[in-house]
Amino acid sequence: MQSKSPDNGTVTVLNNIGQLATCSAAADQQNAGLINNAALAVENDRIAWVGFAAQLPDEYANADAIDCGRRLVIPGLIDCHTHLCFGGWRGDEFEMRIQGKSYQEIANSGGGIRSTVRATRSDSADRLSAKALGALKEILALGVTTLECKSGYGLELESELKQLRVYRDLDRQQPVDLVPTFLGAHMVPEEYSNNREGYMRLLCEDLIPAIAEQKLARFCDIFVEQGAFELDEARVVLETAQRAGFGLKVHADQLSNGGGARLAAAMGAVSAEHLEYSDPEGIAALARSGTVAV
Ligand SMILES: [Zn+2]
Repeated sequence: MQSKSPDNGTVTVLNNIGQLATCSAAADQQNAGLINNAALAVENDRIAWVGFAAQLPDEYANADAIDCGRRLVIPGLIDCHTHLCFGGWRGDEFEMRIQGKSYQEIANSGGGIRSTVRATRSDSADRLSAKALGALKEILALGVTTLECKSGYGLELESELKQLRVYRDLDRQQPVDLVPTFLGAHMVPEEYSNNREGYMRLLCEDLIPAIAEQKLARFCDIFVEQGAFELDEARVVLETAQRAGFGLKVHADQLSNGGGARLAAAMGAVSAEHLEYSDPEGIAALARSGTVAV
């Protein structure tokens, strides 16, 4: 904890807060810890005091103040599943989905993840970074201050490193905290369509070790789904990643019930994500394990 004395550093007071959500970690989840007519004092980037505006301690009376205009003030939001850095734009696929085309049909006609992989591979890091930075500004304006961000549109060493380096550099350049996840197991890339074992070897023997060594990601994620990775393959990738020091995440049961939630729970993954088609058994496994449903 830094100095409590306002004399020792910068002090900022948020005053005229209509409603302040304190979201105390000690309280129940449904209890947002609301304080009406509140004020909040920040010293050296730490919250030093919260309470009723009328009870603001005298020591903060002359501090720099921001008038919140009776607005709601909340802690920064955390977005724990994004694919922030990508080439191209698949907005047209929303129209196709509305017209009734399935995810697999879109993928088979050249769209889907593989089309983003082609665009991400050919884009420069600068171009990818500029696009991601634009999104980050909008994300921050929505109140998000910490963002998990996945690779997975490179699916080869240099392009995966390119995405993860964009995250590393953006984390330093702008205020949102980025938490990078390696998602080289998003899909088997086109050039390995007839050689899944070859891509599994590339993942486990080249990509995971290289990214671990360069400390470019904190988590390793895998898309467990028909057309992506089988359960047995996922277990191998996750075990390799765990040995390399990554925390684990799983894209589970997004398009069908493939057992991804149960695998995530069994492997002690930090989260299982999507889960649209999870069965009661998968949900129960998550509840028992402490793996978070995202
Ligand atoms: Zn995803």
